[in-house]
Formats: sequence, structure tokens, C-alpha cells
Amino acid sequence: MNGLTLKQAQELLLERIEKVKETETISLWEGVDRILAEDITAEHDQPPFPRSPLDGYAVRSADIKGASKECPVRLLVIDEADAGHTSKIQVEKGTAIRIMTGAPIPEGADCVVGQEDTDYGEDIVEIYTKAGAYENYCFAGEDYKAGAKILEKDMRLGAVELGVLASLGLSEVQVFRKVRTAVLTTGDELLLPGEELKPGKIYDSNLYTMVTRLTSLGAEVVQKGRTEDSPEEAAAWIRNAGKEADIIITTGGVSVGKKDIMHDVLKLLECERIFWKIAIKPGMPTLCGLYEGKLLICLSGNPFGAAVNMELLVRPVLAKLMGRKDLEIKKVRAVSESRFPKRSFVTRYVRGFYECGKVRIPEGSNDSGILSSMCGCNCLIEIPAGTAELHKGESVWIILI
Ligand code: AMP
Ligand code: MG
Repeated sequence: MNGLTLKQAQELLLERIEKVKETETISLWEGVDRILAEDITAEHDQPPFPRSPLDGYAVRSADIKGASKECPVRLLVIDEADAGHTSKIQVEKGTAIRIMTGAPIPEGADCVVGQEDTDYGEDIVEIYTKAGAYENYCFAGEDYKAGAKILEKDMRLGAVELGVLASLGLSEVQVFRKVRTAVLTTGDELLLPGEELKPGKIYDSNLYTMVTRLTSLGAEVVQKGRTEDSPEEAAAWIRNAGKEADIIITTGGVSVGKKDIMHDVLKLLECERIFWKIAIKPGMPTLCGLYEGKLLICLSGNPFGAAVNMELLVRPVLAKLMGRKDLEIKKVRAVSESRFPKRSFVTRYVRGFYECGKVRIPEGSNDSGILSSMCGCNCLIEIPAGTAELHKGESVWIILI
């Protein structure tokens, strides 16, 4: 079998691209999975004031030394402090302020007694426990202090990071712009869902698999379309898409048949041919080029082949363009609960369900033209070249998808 190893193919692609450098300012609401393009420094303490961690009474620890259920200390309740409101009254010897969680601790108080350790008194409260200075007392800045670096450039934003940005009072953030992709499916036989099925035709599933996968990986799909098996038409489409997209993905027409047009498309585009053929199954005839500095990744039209190579080739490319380490291929060891009886002459990828260290191959065919048996799968099982058969109970590498 001729062709590159998967690793060689990946390296040839990765060495031709660089992380996208342009930035944009977006609302925090749009921030999930975006990459920070700036360091973030706190402008204020968080919390900005000392606050109560519970509902109770703000008191002076000196006043309640030795307080117990048997020997309560009685204090005059002089005010109530609720969250969002600052009491203007100072706690002085023999007094307490009723306080709620999140309310600023009033001047003069140095601790809080939880209401369950009191008689809940309204005018006079009986305190049943002692407390030390700064007990049940949240200091200003205990989360972070003004001036502290909170988030670093190149960090991926998730729900927690976005919450932290919001706690800083920010509603917008500067991130690297999204990677722009374009997807073209080719084939005379393809119909769009919604059209009437005609003899010899099939519906275009790749357009949906490719576009939605790219979107779920965080890329923007700036153009999507289909052309017939016409090299001129496909080349024109790619020329146009190349004006906008950072990377162009096509499916169909990469093998050796008369209608495998993508070889001619590369010639028409005067495109550098990076490689054709990888020693893997499915996806052996993958063809890649560089068009005006943008990767043109031409996948097989077979739906499983296209889906697998989206994970093996396109995903690492996106990881680098986006600066998202989390998108890099993650291999995990698992025990196979299924057998796969076919000999694998090259490295083979089989669809699987992975859970708790075990992986199972679904019923149905693993052929590259079969997509439906991949429904619900969450990994690809890697079967090394030369394996006669994968046995039940064998340990395998899987790629989580
Ligand atoms: P090709 O790579 O063009 O030789 O196509 C290989 C197989 O995949 C053929 O059976 C095609 O009909 C099928 N195929 C090609 N493109 C698509 C597509 N976009 N959606 C579904 N099947 C496709
Ligand atoms: Mg075709």
C-alpha cells in the first residue's frame, strides 16, 4: 500500500498553517470556546467589600466571649443589613446588626453569628455561641485583588471563565476571530434534502455532516455548496470561497475513476499538491493542496470516510488555526467488548461506543459508505496495520470524537 502515514499527512498540513492572529471584541454571551486575545487584570477587589457568608447577626467578637446556650449574651439589635444595602450604623459595644448573606459587614463588627446560634431576636437577640474575630467573615478581595492578573491571553473561555469575566464587570471581551471554513460537496448524483428522490440519485449527507461538525468544533462556515462532477465548476467555487475562507473542505472525486475530478481541480487552481493518499482506511484517497496559502482538504465522498477524516485531519488543523489544544486528537486506552473479524492491511478506524474504559462496535457494517451505524458513536477504534482480527477483551487505542 502506498501513501503516507497518518502522522506524516497531519504534519504536512500543520507545517503549512499558523494560528489565526486577527482579533475581535465580542459579547460574553458569544464567548464559549473562544480564545482570549488579551490578558485580563482585575480593576477592583472581589468581593469589593467584606461581606457576610450567612444569615445571622454582625457582632463584636469581644462582646460574645464565653456565650453559650446555658449562658447566652444579650445584644441590642440596632439595624438590619440585607444584600445590596450597606448599613450606615456602626456596631458598638453591646449591639448587633441583623445581617443577611452577601450583605456588607457593618463598621464595628468583626464577626457574624449564624442565626441558628441565636433566638432570632428582633429587638434584643440572645447569642448562644462565641466567635473569634473574623469568624464567618468574608474579606474584601478574598476571591481576587485589584491589580491581579485573572485570565491569560490564549486561554479558552468556558462557562467558568465567562462567569469570572462577568464578576469583573466586563460585558465584552477580546478574542481571536473564528476560523473561517468553506465546504463543497461534489457529485452528479447528489440531491439536497427536500428535493424529490430521482432514479440514480442520493441525498447529500456530507454537506450536513461536514458543516455541522465544523460548527460544533467552533469554526465558522462562511460558504457551503454543491457542484456537479465538473472540474471547472468546482474550481470556480473554490476560487470564490478562497477569498473568504481560511480552509476549504471538499468531498467526493478524489479516487481514480473517470469522474474523480479533484485532481483536475487542483491543476485548474494551479494549486500546490501537498499529498494524495494516506495509508489508512477509510479515507485512503484523501487529496490535499495549498490554494493561495489556504489548505484545500479533499475528502472521499463516502460518508463514513469523510466523517473519519474530518476527525483525523481537519480537526488537528482547526486546533492549530484556533489555538485550541483541547481539539487536538485525544487517544485513550480501552478494552474491546466486540470482535472485528476483518484483516486490516493498513491502519483501520472503526466506529465505536466508549464508556468507562470499555468500547463496543455497533451492529451493522463499518464500510466507508455506511453512515447510519455510526449514529450515537463517540469514538473511533484504531486497529493497527497488519492486525488479522480484533478479539474481544483486547486492549485498543481509541480516539474520542
Ligand atoms: P466519490 O468519492 O465521489 O467516489 O464517492 C464515493 C461514494 O460516496 C459514492 O457512492 C457517492 O455516491 C457517495 N457520495 C459522494 N458524495 C456524497 C455526499 N455528499 N453525500 C452522500 N454520499 C456521497
Ligand atoms: Mg463521485
